[in-house]
Formats: sequence, structure tokens, C-alpha cells
Amino acid sequence: MSDRSRRVCVTGGAGFIGVRLVSALLARGCDVTVLDDLSIGRRERVPAGARLVVGDIRDAGAVRKALAGCDAVAHLAARVAIRSSFEHAVDDASINVVGTASVLRHAIDAGSVKRFVLASSMAVYADSSAPRPIGEDHATDPASPYGVSKLAAERLVRLMCAQAGIGHVVLRLFNTYGPGQSLSPYVGVVTIFVNDLLEGRAVTIYGNGEQCRDFVHVDDVAGAFALALASDRPQGTYNIGTGRATSVNEIHRRVAAALGRESVPRCMAAVPGELRYCVAGIEAAGRDLGYTPEHTLDDDLAAVVREVALGVTAAEDA
Ligand code: NAD
Repeated sequence: MSDRSRRVCVTGGAGFIGVRLVSALLARGCDVTVLDDLSIGRRERVPAGARLVVGDIRDAGAVRKALAGCDAVAHLAARVAIRSSFEHAVDDASINVVGTASVLRHAIDAGSVKRFVLASSMAVYADSSAPRPIGEDHATDPASPYGVSKLAAERLVRLMCAQAGIGHVVLRLFNTYGPGQSLSPYVGVVTIFVNDLLEGRAVTIYGNGEQCRDFVHVDDVAGAFALALASDRPQGTYNIGTGRATSVNEIHRRVAAALGRESVPRCMAAVPGELRYCVAGIEAAGRDLGYTPEHTLDDDLAAVVREVALGVTAAEDA
């Protein structure tokens, strides 16, 4: 890790992706402070060696405390859900837009922050006409309030960091899978399917199930953040995925096979806000950041399903 990004504040560092990022940064010798309100994240999952400030990203005191002495920020804290974001549009806007403005304002005021990396999302894109990888120049036209909030957060980062002379990178994450994802009915199709099958519930598939996603392993996403923090590029916006399309029907078949279960899905109407095709073109991240995903669903899905299943059964036993 370059000297520029040695003392890093990770907002949302007690969450699914944040925990893996904090571990990766500690392994690279960074000092890490986590700012998380623990609304979803869990205190006990924050890796030993990181300092934890419990607080809301909209609370000036908490943000100032977390940013003191930091030279880089990885901003992951957000309300994360596409499907429920119509219902929770006010919270989405407040946490994802106002919260981002708050972290940026205090990062600039701190004076020590030289680099800012934002976790954005594929949800900023307009739907695609085919399951082909899309580049960062694909039209942005979010179909959900969550996507709107992420696009607004991106614009705040570019505008405020450029004005303050802070190097900034926006990472548009695609469907992230892996162990440690909190169970929610709205996020993480692999985790949801494993839980449904283990608890004997029918898996629900919205629409015809032929919608395609790009499933990227949480450790590849954490690695992309570490690369973006270490990079000396003044600015950039990058897709973080794998470039491979997998349909929801295919994921369902493979999760059921990995668990050795017969499964007949329950089919429901397509949900507003969800894109039909969303696959990442990752050439720019490879060229500029040196990003190459190391995991593939083919290699990993069975192991990840087992890890998620172990987490589920451990929680049931507790
Ligand atoms: P997560 O919900 O597991 O983690 C988010 C963390 O932010 C949680 O620990 C939560 O407690 C914290 N948080 C929420 N509101 C907060 C607030 N007001 N103040 C302080 N902390 C707060 O989600 P994740 O999957 O780890 O996502 C991390 C980031 O990546 C988010 O910005 C999300 O939008 C983005 N992203 C995730 C995916 C995915 O597939 N998981 C895809 C695209 C983008």
C-alpha cells in the first residue's frame, strides 16, 4: 500500500464487503478505522486490529472522530436494497446521498485525506438489451430510488473531491456473493436461496428467471478497493465484476445442486427497479487499476454455499 493511503477510514466496515476489505487492508499493513452504526453490520465481525467508531455517517461528531488522522477513505456505508428502495426512498436518499455529502464534507475539512473511494453500484445503469458486458460509458438511468441515490453519491464525490484536490475513484460493484452476507429478503440472491432451501421454503424467482447478473466474489471486490486506494490515478470510475453473465434460473439450479436438494421455484411477477441484463465490462479496471478477478462461480459456488449454510445452521443452533 502506498504511503498515501496507509491510514484508512472504512465506513460500513462492519458490513458484508467492509469486513473483508478491513481484513485485506490490515494484511497490507494499514491502520484502519471503521465507522459503522451497526444497523446491519456486527461489532464482533470487525477484524481485530481495526479501531471501531460506532456512529451514523450523518453525525458530524462521529464522522470527525473516525476521520481524525486518516489519509484515505473507503466509503461503503449505505442502505443497500434495490427491491425495497421504493418503499424506503426517504431512508435511501438520507443515508446514501446526505450521508455521502457528510463524509465528503468532513473528509475535506480534516485536511489529511488525499484519497476517496466510493462503493457505487450497477444500479446506476440503464437496462441493457442483451446479456453482454457493458462499459462505464453505458447510459446511466437508474430504475430504482437506490440507483438514483448511488448516482447522486457518485456525482457528489466527483464534484467535491475535484474541487478539493482529493484523488477519487468510484467503483460500480456488481452482484457480490460470498460468506458473511447478512440475510435480507432484498439483497444477495445466493444467500437468500441457501436460506430458503435449508429452511424448507420454496425459492422465489421474480419474472421468468432469465434476467442475468454478474456475480463477483466479495474478496475480489475487497481487492478492487485496495487497488483503488493504492492507485495514484487522480480520478476514475470502474465496473467491478467478472464479465460473465449468469441467469437467476442458473444460480437457483446450482445452489440446489450444491445443497443436494430438489427445488421447484415459486414464480412471481417481475419487480419494478430490477434490471434485466447487467454484466460488467471490466477492461478499464484491469488496465488502470490492475484488477483481475481471481474467483469464478464455477470454482467457488459449492464452497460458498457450504459456508453460507454453515452460518445459517450455526445461527439456528445459537
Ligand atoms: P451491508 O449492508 O452488509 O454493509 C453496509 C454497512 O453500512 C453495514 O455494516 C451497516 O451497519 C452500515 N451502515 C448503514 N447505514 C449506516 C449509517 N447511516 N451510518 C453508518 N453506518 C451505516 O452492505 P454491503 O453489501 O457490504 O455493501 C457495501 C457497499 O457496497 C454499499 O455502499 C452498497 O451500496 C455497495 N454495493 C453492494 C453490492 C452487493 O452486491 N452487496 C452491490 C453493489 C454495490
